Amino acid sequence: MADLSLFSNDQIAALLSALPDPAFILTRSGRYAAVFGGTDSRYYHDGSGLVGKSLDDVLHPEKAAWFHAQIAIALAAQGLHVVEYALGREDVRGIGTDGPAELIWFEGRVQPLAYPVLDEDAVLWVASNITASKKLEALLRMQSETDSLSGLANRRKLMSSLTEHFELFARYKTPAAVLIFDIDHFKNINDAQGHLAGDKAIAATADVCRRALRATDFPARLGGDEFVVLMPHTDSEQALPIAERLRLRIAEQTGATISGGLSEMTPGDLSYEEVLKRADDALYRAKRDGRNRIVRP
Ligand code: GH3
Ligand code: MG
Repeated sequence: MADLSLFSNDQIAALLSALPDPAFILTRSGRYAAVFGGTDSRYYHDGSGLVGKSLDDVLHPEKAAWFHAQIAIALAAQGLHVVEYALGREDVRGIGTDGPAELIWFEGRVQPLAYPVLDEDAVLWVASNITASKKLEALLRMQSETDSLSGLANRRKLMSSLTEHFELFARYKTPAAVLIFDIDHFKNINDAQGHLAGDKAIAATADVCRRALRATDFPARLGGDEFVVLMPHTDSEQALPIAERLRLRIAEQTGATISGGLSEMTPGDLSYEEVLKRADDALYRAKRDGRNRIVRP
């Protein structure tokens, strides 16, 4: 514990206002009793205008309710409560107009105080701007889920989407169709025109997928010249004309044909892997039967 007698009241006030992150004293009922620190407008808006106001005066009712709940949790736990949230300048009435224009992500560290403030229990709420690391986190997540050559979802992301939709099917019988397709004689493109031309054909195929499919359809690159399209809320009968249209568009726009296998989730399936396996078997038949076609199990 610091020996506060070393400091004058003015020095203590200066120390508090030098805190890099804004620190709010909030009472149980949501009153802002005091605001310290957070004066650098590159990171924060001036919150001094909040003192004397209440959460309900300055925030949208939904957001205010969330803040009330976090204060209650910290007070009940009688220990540090850590939360994450986002606020834009327009979300808080009464803050300064200087400060970041963009949405700010905060980590809130909410510590109950040992003594009452304005005759109420109260917390110290320190709000740190974590926007930069949130942005980096989002970028890294996006990169870890994206195939860099095609820009489509990669295998990892596809598997997590298949898991999600398989669970929806198992619980709510929400249908989903799965198309696996593979470029026909892709090795010939590589051999005749070079690997770079092969790469371009993969990217062009992905472009057609993005343009020809609905926003809810989920195209992914499985690897090599193999792609998967997950079509939620669609059974394989409804998916067949979509797959056929995709097959024709790819041939028109890239010059290469594709073969595909199309399956759907069925009540006997234990996992999405069985659905994928049926589509893969159908793809094998499409190749065997002469390519440039979509086959259903
Ligand atoms: P099929 O009609 O039976 O599918 O014949 P195919 O020649 O397309 O044979 P297959 O699908 O087995 O071959 C895929 C080839 O794709 C093999 C591999 O050398 C090549 N390949 C895999 N990944 C890439 C890539 O990222 N870029 C390029 N250019 N080629 C790739
Ligand atoms: Mg192929």
